[in-house]
Amino acid sequence: MLFGINIYGLVQGLGFRPFIYNLALKHFLKGYVSNNGEGVYIELNTTYKKLYKFMEQIQLKKPPLSKIEYFSITLKNDIKKFENFTIKESQESFSISTMIPSDIAMCKKCEIELNDKNNRRYQYPFITCTNCGPRYSIIKNLPYDRCNTSMDKFKMCDKCKKEYTNPKDRRYHAQPIGCFDCGVELSIYDKGKNKLEINSKNYIDDIVTHIESGKIVAIKGIGGYHLVCDATNTKTVDLLRERKYRPYKPFAVMVKNIVMAKTIVTLNDKEKELLSSHKRPIVLCQQTTKSNISDLIAPNINQLGVLLPYTPIHTLILNKLNNPIVATSANISGEPLCKTFDEIMNLSHIWDYCLDNNRDIINSCDDSIAFVENDKTFMLRIARGYSPNYLKLPKNTNKKILCLGANQKSTIGIVIKDKMILSPYIADLNSLETINRFKSQIDTFKKTYNFEPEIVVCDKHPSYESTKYAIELKKQNPNLELIQVQHHYAHILATMAINNISSKVLGVSFDGTGYGDDNNLWGGEFLICNNNSYKRVAHFNYFKLLGGTLAIKEPRRVALSFLFDIYGKDALNISNKTINSFSKEELKILYTLWEKNINSPLTSSCGRLFDVVASLLNIVQVSSYEGESGLLLESYYDSSITDYFQFDINNKIIDFKCIVIQILKEKNHFIAISKFFNTLVQIIYEMGEKYKLPIVLGGGVFQNRVLIRLLIEKIPNIILPKEFISNDSAIAYGQAIAVV
Ligand code: ZN
Ligand code: ZN
Ligand code: FE
Repeated sequence: MLFGINIYGLVQGLGFRPFIYNLALKHFLKGYVSNNGEGVYIELNTTYKKLYKFMEQIQLKKPPLSKIEYFSITLKNDIKKFENFTIKESQESFSISTMIPSDIAMCKKCEIELNDKNNRRYQYPFITCTNCGPRYSIIKNLPYDRCNTSMDKFKMCDKCKKEYTNPKDRRYHAQPIGCFDCGVELSIYDKGKNKLEINSKNYIDDIVTHIESGKIVAIKGIGGYHLVCDATNTKTVDLLRERKYRPYKPFAVMVKNIVMAKTIVTLNDKEKELLSSHKRPIVLCQQTTKSNISDLIAPNINQLGVLLPYTPIHTLILNKLNNPIVATSANISGEPLCKTFDEIMNLSHIWDYCLDNNRDIINSCDDSIAFVENDKTFMLRIARGYSPNYLKLPKNTNKKILCLGANQKSTIGIVIKDKMILSPYIADLNSLETINRFKSQIDTFKKTYNFEPEIVVCDKHPSYESTKYAIELKKQNPNLELIQVQHHYAHILATMAINNISSKVLGVSFDGTGYGDDNNLWGGEFLICNNNSYKRVAHFNYFKLLGGTLAIKEPRRVALSFLFDIYGKDALNISNKTINSFSKEELKILYTLWEKNINSPLTSSCGRLFDVVASLLNIVQVSSYEGESGLLLESYYDSSITDYFQFDINNKIIDFKCIVIQILKEKNHFIAISKFFNTLVQIIYEMGEKYKLPIVLGGGVFQNRVLIRLLIEKIPNIILPKEFISNDSAIAYGQAIAVV
């Protein structure tokens, strides 16, 4: 009998065909395997019984990184007799639904070879195989073949070619392979952009010496460049902060291994597993008190982002170092990650030496960031290892939909059939560079997937760059359908979809700011919604952002606005930390803004309430990075304090003014802050009791791990953005759900 088997899912570029080949040989089956448009196709002569066994083994033993979504088997009518089993070259043209695999950390087998003196790739900084190495970051076009990647310029030597063409070899069709004779090469540049001659080409030793002697080095990794220095050297870390204009925002630290990680953070099993997973995200962990890293790495917070090496270059460097290193994205604050030689050379005022290589990065990809709370993984940034992200949709559609997301933490996505392909994190669309990166991501999608949108979806905020771009697209192409989706509804839809929920829920969207249907800036919202509609049933009282966007950077402006709301002009005569942080002149001007409603948009943002608390308690008056208030408040939470402030929910309005009055009376920071957290939890809990609906969380505030921890404890069946994200990187996905 002749059978045809189609296997769909993440099955290309991950050693799936050689796996089938070797399995077929083991089962004495005759036929062939090939990649086709939508996955892998197998044809073979066998019996039902043997086929059943074969299929069972495929599912049991498939390559570790592959994912079978489903398969179909057909009994063929034509008569074909195969002599043996072969791997056939893919002939059919690719389909747009083919999945591109993510970049994967170096595997165990490659690491062993890297350290094996007798291996021909001993200490080769670009060692890779079918089970590891770059994928997404080097791909130019589908199908994923070497000629469509940035490896096309490297001509394989005979030895590599032999491995590449042998189905029994671990490197069979591993697109990025190479060796000292034929592969990617390192080089070192100084600040003057001069390529340095290094004795016996010992680039790794050279860069290690620079790190040890307190220099800042740029290192080209998989999806971009890092800035690296010794994490225990306060002088260098301080210099890096100064040169990068990044005074306080925490840096991530790369450690040699789990043993070294344990010297600076505490780790539970789940955190260890996540750190060592092939995705290798930065994991936020609790700092230990006796850590030897500089106090300037994560000032005033008790958490620390750590990650393990994920390329052979990082491994080779860390193997020679005894200290953890700072590994932060090479960019100017708020701008996209550097991926080209020219871009990193433009930052030569920050670094002293640059360890470069001649493999082009086609698609840039930042490090992903995650944390573990209650044994669950929460993502703070979805990029390397996780991107491109294939997200399921509740419905299949034939329409070609482009979703442009929000403005901060930008990601964009395209809808193909029953999936959304979500781009990695792009950054905030506040500068020309990020807007260009945003546009080029759209072009990459169009080119890679041969995609031309029929519908474009964006936010309702008129001044988001993504909205402006959508309107521009519509102008150029009147046939294009333009749909705008409310920001917080999109937040809730994203969490619902990731959890396979489409029925009625109570959505809680605690967020920074997003454009509301009444033209005010929402952000502390309770929405009753399903996949088709939403109704706002409660929100925090509106308050004024004195000076508009400036108030987002200055927590004291929001706190002052509350003081004006409560005490009117008398607030000017109060003496407290918020008031005292302004000059008399400033206070007068701000009072006028408040009184006359000049440049003072109304908002119900919960994110800003964290700012109010942080300013009243003099923890932050002017933020130096986004989310600073929330992060700093976490350090003051005391779990032995279980009570909360009295609050009022009247006529759909949750009054925060009465909470502010209680905070002003509380002199103990730990009590005030713990009660503030407990109050937010209690509000959500009571709303849940009132509506008796499943509670779904979405919005940037739910990246606060203390809040998440307390909510899981109080409401065990609360619905979270599990393994996905709750900040504005989720918006594009939510937009897709709203329109399919
Ligand atoms: Zn490998
Ligand atoms: Zn070679
Ligand atoms: Fe948001």
